[in-house]
Amino acid sequence: MRVLLIGSGGREHALAWKIGASPLLTKLYAAPGNPGIGSDAELVKLDIADHAAVAAFCQEKKIDLVVVGPEGPLVAGIADDLRAAGIRVFGPSRAAARLEGSKGFTKDLCAKYDIPTAAYGRFGDLASARVYVQTMGAPIVIKADGLAAGKGVTVAMTLPEALAALDACFDGSFGQAGAEVVVEEFLTGEEASFFCLCDGVTALPFGTAQDHKRVGDGDTGPNTGGMGAYSPAPVMTPEMIDRTMREIIEPTMRGMAETGAPFSGVLFAGLMITDKGPKLIEYNTRFGDPECQVLMMRLKDDLLVLLNAAVDGQLAHTSIRWREEAALTVVMAARGYPGTPEKGSVIRGVEEAAGDGVEIFHAGTAINGGALVANGGRVLNVTALGKTVGEAQKKAYAGLDRIDWPQGFCRRDIGWQAVAREKAGS
Ligand code: AMP
Repeated sequence: MRVLLIGSGGREHALAWKIGASPLLTKLYAAPGNPGIGSDAELVKLDIADHAAVAAFCQEKKIDLVVVGPEGPLVAGIADDLRAAGIRVFGPSRAAARLEGSKGFTKDLCAKYDIPTAAYGRFGDLASARVYVQTMGAPIVIKADGLAAGKGVTVAMTLPEALAALDACFDGSFGQAGAEVVVEEFLTGEEASFFCLCDGVTALPFGTAQDHKRVGDGDTGPNTGGMGAYSPAPVMTPEMIDRTMREIIEPTMRGMAETGAPFSGVLFAGLMITDKGPKLIEYNTRFGDPECQVLMMRLKDDLLVLLNAAVDGQLAHTSIRWREEAALTVVMAARGYPGTPEKGSVIRGVEEAAGDGVEIFHAGTAINGGALVANGGRVLNVTALGKTVGEAQKKAYAGLDRIDWPQGFCRRDIGWQAVAREKAGS
């Protein structure tokens, strides 16, 4: 198979690494990719926002499957445009990607299909949103409706914070994404990420993970795209997975099919495991980054076979095998992240740090004058397998400490909840 992978982050490097291991693969291209992906794929300079150019490339290179990593192109309809040109794509249509692209759309679907989620209101103007917030009181959660690069959510512990977040949405801080606002009940519990592969009708569980969103140790400091993750998530017991499938995922699949937008691709449910069971916080319509990295490490089966089954509507006849081990990934970020990261510092020792169950996936890297340099906020994902999360954690940090990059930083406590649980249980 000749495959084109769209994207350039650590998620896409993990996908390229796993697709690259498939006996079905004859050629892998990545657009635009990064230097790490360049060792698994041929990098192509395509403007991925120009869907006609992507389609022309696929036709010229006789691409059998396009795999779309990030949400931006999906919400912009790349899957529809490529399919219209006769090209096979793994990823949801524009209409199905509304599950990620519009929080209001998802909340309305939950209301209609009785899917457990936080109580909410949807507002198109500041005055009525203020009245609702003042009536409900704090703590309360304010969300810009559209895609806001992970920055559109405020968990407000006080009323003034909540009102300031409403002002920020309606004064254009998030552009069009904030023109409509969802105000939600504050949920408490343990968060978990749950993934399914979907073919429009069937959703097949595809692993669980927990990530660390805050920049600092002990889950402190500002939110980031994710500073590390591990899989599986201990809170997602087989019973909890069953409930999540029955109460959340299956009604979503039914609802999407009934509204004429059957969901295919990766459905990523952000869950709060409350004392009343799983509740949906949000959907994403692609793999998480860095959750994808740990899932790919644990996946025993051939990823291309699974992606083909999803594209061909065959998931009802498919099963997935996982390694027994846990996986954990630590993000190395450039100083300044999540504000303005410093670019251009030289990173040494990456290849030497890998091996013995440790993989290093590139995110924001570049080559400058033959040297590997930082070129973004999140730069490397040091990822390891271990018999326990604790062992994977030790191996990941041992690998990370072999990397010579004084301008980089990481959290030193990725996986702490799971490691504490393992210690308590042993
Ligand atoms: P989201 O972008 O919707 O995933 O929200 C980002 C983070 O905000 C989540 O990972 C949660 O930690 C938190 N969050 C979102 N919605 C709620 C809620 N209703 N109650 C409590 N925390 C929430």
